[in-house]
Amino acid sequence: MTVVTRFAPSPTGRLHVGNIRTALHNWMFARAHGGRFLLRIDDTDAERSEERFVAAIRHDLAWLGLEADAEVRQSERFGLYEKRFEELRAAGRIYPAYETSQELDLKRKIQLGRGLPPVYDRAALQLTDADRARLENDGVRPHWRFHLDHDCLVEWDDLVRGHQRFDPSTMSDPVVRRADGSWLYMLPSAIDDIDMGISHVVRGEDHVANTALQIQMFAALGAAPPSFAHAALLTGSEGKLSKRLGSLGVDQLREMGIEPQAIRALLARLGTSDPVEPAVDMADLLTTFDFGRFGRAPARFDEGELAQLSARIIHQLPYGAVADRLPAGMAADAWDVVKPNLSTVAEASDWWSVIEGPVDAPAAGEDREYLAAAADAAEVIEWGEDPWHQLVDKLKEQTARKGKALFLPLRRALTGRDHGPDMAALLPLIGRERAIARLRAS
Ligand code: GLU
Repeated sequence: MTVVTRFAPSPTGRLHVGNIRTALHNWMFARAHGGRFLLRIDDTDAERSEERFVAAIRHDLAWLGLEADAEVRQSERFGLYEKRFEELRAAGRIYPAYETSQELDLKRKIQLGRGLPPVYDRAALQLTDADRARLENDGVRPHWRFHLDHDCLVEWDDLVRGHQRFDPSTMSDPVVRRADGSWLYMLPSAIDDIDMGISHVVRGEDHVANTALQIQMFAALGAAPPSFAHAALLTGSEGKLSKRLGSLGVDQLREMGIEPQAIRALLARLGTSDPVEPAVDMADLLTTFDFGRFGRAPARFDEGELAQLSARIIHQLPYGAVADRLPAGMAADAWDVVKPNLSTVAEASDWWSVIEGPVDAPAAGEDREYLAAAADAAEVIEWGEDPWHQLVDKLKEQTARKGKALFLPLRRALTGRDHGPDMAALLPLIGRERAIARLRAS
């Protein structure tokens, strides 16, 4: 069987952490099985869907390295939905209903007041042709419900959650089409999954109840259902209903300087039994990707963990991977020297300005003489061969200084800072001229 997965966002906002994770799971599962990964833009809701969000979704997926093998848009497929809708209607699996939302609300309240589950009572099925004609004459347009089959339980083996079982008689016949003819998510999605040959539907556990309904739709449409994997939801570090997590978008993460590899590495492993590792290469994550390793408990997403992972990714990145984001003139030698000190690639320009100067060194105070001696020493050493060790060896001999007293005044005068990359690596980049000038200036 060819594995075909799909990521089906509604273009009503930016992608956030939760749906990136779903996209990633779909992409990884397809790649791990030599299958296809499709992007389906769920834009049936013309009012809420926006073209700028479609563009942002494509851009964000490309940035994350999760490019799709093909893209389809639901708004271009209304003809297919109409055809399949008519078939289901002719077969008696879809029926018109005329209640207003106020009437439905009232019914639910009465049921709840009696301690009954708020399941739609199918009153519309009791209407006669004459009733319907009268309603339509009065200008009432029907919405459309899918008629659930109450005679059998809906069961499936979820790849994450294990065996699932739903009693359809405890569920309302879902509305699949509004009175204005527009589509709700449920039916077009099942129609598309069949038409696009989706083998695995991979999504969050907030869709589990939808799956029970959609499995009946697959059957009514004459198709075997795909396999399903519903991952447990993420929680923010502050708890389940984290506003921050729901709104934390790819665009914000990018602005914070988070690397896409870090997002992938964290979201690929979060909620699984495997440790989170700073994997730069997707191939390393693919080998262990398996829904069987996912737990059922909600997984905690921690922004701090992501930032740390991103730094550990940056420490591994070769110059070629970042060259276009570095300041003009900064070459591979400088990148390799500063990268162990970076939390974000953008910070490389701070170190580049330390190399290039001018640096704002603190007043030398009682180290003035020592730094003057250092400048003299810097004049005579051989700059081609490890100048830092030559310099400190000379100064160690000349002065009684050692340890911090030996190194720190030099670092301060040469870089304007107390901490930073290894001086042995940094000094050749600063170079003879600038180093002597900085030592003399202090
Ligand atoms: N557009 C739906 C959503 O974003 C797709 C759900 C699905 O994967 O079927 O929730």
